[in-house]
Parts: sequence; C-alpha cells; structure tokens
Amino acid sequence: MSNPLLDTSSLPRFDEIRPDHVLPAIRKVIADNRARLEDLLSTSDSPDFDDIVVPVELMDHELGRIWSPVNHLQSVLGSADWREAFKKALPLLTEYGTELSHNTALQQAYARVRDDLSPDASEAARRAVDHALRDFHLAGVDLEDDAKARFKTIMQELAAAQAEFEHNVVDSSDAWSLHITDSDNLRGLPAPLLARAAEDAKRDGKDGWLLSLDFPTYDAVLKHADSRDLREALYRGWSTRGSELCVDPKWDNSALIEKTLALRHEAANLVGFDNFADYSLATKMAESPEQVIAFLRELSAHSRKAAERELAELTEFAGSHIEPWDVAYWLEKFKQDRYAVSNEELRAYFPATTVKDGLFDLASRLYGVELTPDDSVVAWHEDVRFYNVSQDGEVLGGFYTDLFARNGKRTGAWIDECVIRSHLNGQKALPVGYLVCNFQPPDDKGLSLLTHGDVVTLFHEFGHMMHHLLTRIDLPSVAGINGVPWDAVELPSQFMENFAWSFDVLTRCSSHHEHGQPLPRDLFDKLDNSRHAGAALAMLRQIELGLFDFLVHTEYDPAAPEPVLDTLARVRDEVALIGHPGTNRLPHAFTHIFAGGYAAGYYSYKWAEVLAADAFGAFEEAGIFDEATASRFRREILEVGGSRDIMQAYIAFRGREPTIDALLRQAGIESG
Ligand SMILES: [Zn+2]
Repeated sequence: MSNPLLDTSSLPRFDEIRPDHVLPAIRKVIADNRARLEDLLSTSDSPDFDDIVVPVELMDHELGRIWSPVNHLQSVLGSADWREAFKKALPLLTEYGTELSHNTALQQAYARVRDDLSPDASEAARRAVDHALRDFHLAGVDLEDDAKARFKTIMQELAAAQAEFEHNVVDSSDAWSLHITDSDNLRGLPAPLLARAAEDAKRDGKDGWLLSLDFPTYDAVLKHADSRDLREALYRGWSTRGSELCVDPKWDNSALIEKTLALRHEAANLVGFDNFADYSLATKMAESPEQVIAFLRELSAHSRKAAERELAELTEFAGSHIEPWDVAYWLEKFKQDRYAVSNEELRAYFPATTVKDGLFDLASRLYGVELTPDDSVVAWHEDVRFYNVSQDGEVLGGFYTDLFARNGKRTGAWIDECVIRSHLNGQKALPVGYLVCNFQPPDDKGLSLLTHGDVVTLFHEFGHMMHHLLTRIDLPSVAGINGVPWDAVELPSQFMENFAWSFDVLTRCSSHHEHGQPLPRDLFDKLDNSRHAGAALAMLRQIELGLFDFLVHTEYDPAAPEPVLDTLARVRDEVALIGHPGTNRLPHAFTHIFAGGYAAGYYSYKWAEVLAADAFGAFEEAGIFDEATASRFRREILEVGGSRDIMQAYIAFRGREPTIDALLRQAGIESG
C-alpha cells in the first residue's frame, strides 16, 4: 500500500506519514464510505442492526482512525505544511459530516432498526441507535422542507456569527496596548514579561515598555503588578473587549449577541424545544433548565458565607476596599504570607519520571492493570514513549505520552483518541490514545522537574486516558469517552486530580532530585492549606458565569428580549460579592458561550466537579486505595463509556445520587 495513512492494520506509521498523504487518503476514505453507504441503503429494504448500524459504526471508526494521526501531528509538530494539509482536509470532513446528519434515508433506516430491535439487544446497541436518532433530530433532518431549509440557514448564520464574534474579541484585544515609560509602574511584574514588553516597545520605535492584552500579560498584571492603576487599566481593557467601549467600536459584538440568541431560540423552537437551554440539555446529563438553575443557586447559597469570610479576610489583609482588579493580586500576596508555599521548592520533589512511575503504580493499585513501556513502537518525536496497558496477560490497549514543551507544539495539555475500541464482525481493535502535556523540557542531564500544578494536570489527563482505555464496549460510538454527555465527561479526569492532593499518593510520586527524599509532611500541609485560599470566591465567580449563560438561553423572549447587560446585572446582584464598574462588558468577550461549544453548558464545569468530588468521597470513606471501591468505579463508570445512562451508572457506583457536599468540603466550605 503506497499511502501509509490508509494502512489501519496496526498503529499509525508515524515515520512514513507525510502531509501530502493527507488529502488523497481523506478523499479516498470518504469516497469509499459514500459508495458503501449508498450500497447499504439501496440493497436492503428492512435493514436490521447488523445490516446498517454495524457497517456505519465501522465506516466511522475507519475514518476516525485515518484522521486521528493527521489532527494529532498538526497539533504536536505544528509545522506549516502539516497545518496546511489539515486545513485543506478539514472542510471535506465537515461536509461529509453534515451530509450524514442530513441523510433522511439513513435516519429512516435507523428508526426501523430501533422499532425492530430485539428485546435482548444490549444496552450499548440500544443507546448507539438512540443517540444516532437523537442527533438526526437535533440536526433538523425530520423537518418539513421549508422548516428544514430555514434550520440549515440558521445553522450557517450561527456559524458565521460565532466566527465573527471570536474575531472581534481577538482583534480588539490585539489592537489594545499600553505604553509605559516609568519603570515604577511595572513593579512586581515577572522579568520575562518585562523583557517582552520592552522588545514590543522597541519594535514600535518607542522607549520603555508596551503592554499588550494577551491572556498571559493580563493574568500576570492582575496577579503581580503593585501599581493599582496599572491593574485597573488592564482590567478595563480586558473587560471591554468586543464592545462599543473597546479600541474601535467596529468590533462591537452587541448586535451579534442579540442575533445569536434570537437564532438559537428559533432553531430550538423549530425542532420542538421551548428554548435553547432545553435543546442544549437534550445531549447532557442534567435533565431540565430548572434543575440546572436550582443546582447553581444551591451551590451559590452554600458558598456565600465562606466567600464573605474570604473577602473580609482579604480586605483586612489589603487594608483597603477590594475592587475587581485587586482580587487576584491580594490573593497571591495573602497566599505567600499565610502559607509561604513556593512553587520552586515543591518542584524539586517532582522529577517527571518519578511522578509518572508513581502515577502508573497508583493505576496498578487501583485497577490491577500493568503499564509497560514498549520502545519498539514508532512515534513522531524522540520525547515520545509508548505504554501497553494489560491485565493478567490480556492487553487492553496502549497510549503514547508526549510530555514536554517544544517549538511549534500546541500549548496546554490534552488527550486524544488514536484508535477507539471496536469489536464488530469478529474484528477487534484495541483502544489507543495520545497523552500530551507541555512540561518544562529535560535539562542536559535528562531531568525535568514538575510543579505541583503540572502533577495535577498529568493526573487529570491520565483520568481521561483510563476512561478511553478501560472501556469494555464493542460499539465505537458509545465506547470510552464517546457518547458520554458533555457535563459528565470530566468526571474521570477531575476525579483523578483528587489523588494528586493526597499525601499518601504524593509521597509515592516524589523524590527530591538531589537527596532522593519524598515530599515531607510539613511542605505537603502548606500546599494542602493553600488549596482553599480564595476557593469560595472563585466558586461564586464560576456560578455567576454559569447562571448568566443559563438565564440568557432559558428566559429568552423573542417578543421582548432582555438586554444581556440587564440579565448580567440581575445575576450579579444575586451572586457576586464584588461589584463591577458600569463599563464592564463581560458578555461581549464570553467566547465560551457566544463562539464556542459551551452555550447553555457553562454550568458543566461545576456539574462535573460535583460528580468528581462526590465520587472521590467514596474513596475517602473506604480508604483511597480500597480495591472494592476502585473496581466498582471501573466497572460502573470507566468501562461502560457512553453505553449507559450516566445517572444510573453513577448510582450503581455510589449507591445514591451525587450531592454537592463533597465539593463544598473540598473547597474548604462547610456544608450544612
Ligand atoms: Zn479534561
């Protein structure tokens, strides 16, 4: 076979795959799938599960398997030719995806399969079909012609509005800058940031420093700048992005916000929902808008006292009234003063290899799995390692790790699926994944030291990886992470983070790079205490965002839409403790909900945190290494993927529905 991308008989041939293989491979697999689908739909008048669902699952699986290395390589290599290849192929995939979701014959075939599904069909089979039918409906496939055309138009307009919204935020941020000539104003800022600001000024032919409004600069100024005026200036720049008050009002998102809310409401109505929040929840764990709103209000009520205490403490410590541009700054100072926990001191205890070995041991201890390196597997960079995951001699799957930062690599940390588990028509594919981080690269002695934040990140991503690898489901569309509702998909990852806050786990994950001692108790205690600093205030902030997002989508009235700034003011009156100036335009740069996938879904962050904290509570009760609890978590949550109603799965694990108590405890907020 000449195109290595099309060879799916084993792991991707990373040493042979080149950008110019992408387009021909994607064209071929899509053309093959199209022909196959047409064939399937024309040859059988009453297709059953094996005639239609199984082949469609296999076609998707094959396409995903070929696309995965392309998407992956453009992220981790970041070379211009990989990005180009990716950009050229992406529209082909989007087009094919839209075509499938609008295929009426396919939808009807699935509907017949569901009607005829045998009573002893597996839960996974039933859910795979139900999910597909739900998604057909949400894509507007079963509408009358006029309505269908209107629905399509709305979707296109929404996509365009979201892209424009995002561009306005980016452009108005990029256009903002602050020229500083007096170094006194920059006291407290980290040296690398100052160096960059000085270079930016020089490039502009100016003296002194030029501060921009990218997130790292904004974040560093708000946390570290001693000058209150400077913090306020950055805050005002940041909180007016994309509004009529930004550098140039041509980037004002006001009209786009109104348009987006109106279109979402109309689209939701067309496919039979009262409002867009209902539409959004059709694919989520939360059952109704009322439930989500009550959930956020309950969290808010419980956090309020603790947040008031935190604010009082902070005000006393600062010796002055706290404005929005003071919170992060005084919180940093307060933490230093109270807990004196130094990132650098902690870092010395966390060599990357020690942390990784400790984490793998933890997985063995919890789930009885063995993780063994396989250096014969071909990868894309010399930093990359491959590990097999097995149990009692049976290989369950494997994963690549690519842990260190380098030029061109996308920032952040994530996992992705390389191969999804599939066992159909007697062919078995084991799950394979990529775990990617951007830790400090090893020095010339091969030593990379992680911060505790890095350790938490690694545990988080590893939690996702276990979800992907330990699945026992044979149908790829509901195996592992697939088919899991958006507001529950962070359960296994946030759950795993909790272990990185356990002394018993951290002692096994640490050894000082000079004297080899594990993390001492007193240092751990400082770290643990600092975890709660500002937690209740942060909680209220997230609730404010979540409630705003949910109310604008639930209460939307097409006859008389409430201005979003009025909704925001109501929410702040109810939730926030720190008042914002009247110029604050939070909605205008709220890209999560106006340009991203979090519309009527921002609450998901808190929702999944509640699940994760409550699940970890079971381990705290039984002992965090308790085998019975771990195997129940594995069996009821990790193995079932999206094949089971998540609430039922959760109750099977926990013996009851989740409560918010564990999260409140974890944030240092007493529950009552
Ligand atoms: Zn995650």
